[in-house]
Amino acid sequence: MDFTITREQKEFRQEVIDFARENLNDSRYYEEFSMEMWKKVSDFGLLGITVDEEYGGLSESYETAAIVFEALGYGCMNNGFIFVINNHIWVAQNLIFLYGTKILKDKYLHQMVAGTRIGSIAITEAESGSDAFSMTTTVVEQEDCYLLNGTKMFISNGPISDIFIVFAVTQKEPVKFSAFVVERQYDGVTTGKNIEKMGLGACPTSELILNNVRIPKENLLGNFNGGGNIMMGALEWERCFEFAPHIGVMQRVMEECIRQVNGRKQFGKPIGENQAVSHKIAEMEVAIEMARMMLYQIAWLKDQKKSAYLQTSVFKLFVSENYIKTCRDALQIFGAYGYSKEYNLEREMRDALASSIHSGTNEMQKNTIYSMVNARCL
Ligand SMILES: Cc1cc2nc3c(=O)[nH]c(=O)nc-3n(C[C@H](O)[C@H](O)[C@H](O)COP(=O)(O)OP(=O)(O)OC[C@H]3O[C@@H](n4cnc5c(N)ncnc54)[C@H](O)[C@@H]3O)c2cc1C
Repeated sequence: MDFTITREQKEFRQEVIDFARENLNDSRYYEEFSMEMWKKVSDFGLLGITVDEEYGGLSESYETAAIVFEALGYGCMNNGFIFVINNHIWVAQNLIFLYGTKILKDKYLHQMVAGTRIGSIAITEAESGSDAFSMTTTVVEQEDCYLLNGTKMFISNGPISDIFIVFAVTQKEPVKFSAFVVERQYDGVTTGKNIEKMGLGACPTSELILNNVRIPKENLLGNFNGGGNIMMGALEWERCFEFAPHIGVMQRVMEECIRQVNGRKQFGKPIGENQAVSHKIAEMEVAIEMARMMLYQIAWLKDQKKSAYLQTSVFKLFVSENYIKTCRDALQIFGAYGYSKEYNLEREMRDALASSIHSGTNEMQKNTIYSMVNARCL
């Protein structure tokens, strides 16, 4: 493994930071999705970062994508908007790119890379969260189509999505799923109203209602009954790349803390001269360094086309716990200023809390990690 960052990667990283600072930090859009910002991100070319050039992408490696997405978190203070981008790229467009037939790629990738069609993933249901295998959305194969029925819950990007990657049960015992590319414009597809959340306000979220939706046969993603593998793949991608920007956020928050502990004086000296304060910053740096190493390792594994299921579970758990801790510690360092709305840290804290729930809760990550290392050691 060689983690040397090339000159081109450094330049790309800086370009992303400058672009994000200039275009993505308008506080009017912290609580609502901005199509204007979305168009800017599309024009910048970020959406197609790892997609082949023949579909309008940049054909970059996953290592470069990891560096760039960390930079996005550092430059962009709108975590909800980053979440929109991530959901679109890693668990919608990327699944079509990796598992889709040529027909599906030709049908959707150009527009998704150009940002003219927004994507999302639909697994969760009201009664099926961590236990995804208990989902009840079903598909019946008909002569000319697949007939899809069910209701999905907590779909990030739902209200603005044109394309949904929907998982549905296609065999009861043993349970097997299939994945389908579903267009908003199909008869029987509706989304509910925006579900208001405590954070990530720029990312609209809704139910997805599928009522006798006729899906063209060509819109089956991967193999019939093969959706389980695609779901595992999707989880790997989101646990890596949706969490990469959090490292950048942690870096930015740590730098704000360093300025604060040097500038703020109490008892006649900077508060950073108290070990109780400075150690919080040392812990932030340890977490950032460890997380970054794990990110690069996972990106390297994905560039080698290797599985990183265990590593992404470890990474997701580690990053989210430390992202939350970093925000919590930063808030404490800033005292009452941190608690006030003016200082953004309370918003960072609210956004961070989501990371321990989505993409599989942290308790579920520990279940996965234990079962995988247990199986390895037996
Ligand atoms: C911000 C956000 C965005 C999301 N976006 C999407 C999306 O785009 N698409 C999508 O399909 N879903 C999405 N989700 C849903 C997400 O995947 C689920 O919230 C998650 O899988 C957990 O399911 P649940 O919320 O129903 O909790 P539950 O599964 O009901 O769990 C409740 C609690 O019990 C614990 N628990 C449950 N079972 C176990 C167990 N076996 N061992 C230990 N602890 C357990 C959990 O860890 C949790 O603490 C999103 C969620 C959030 C918060």
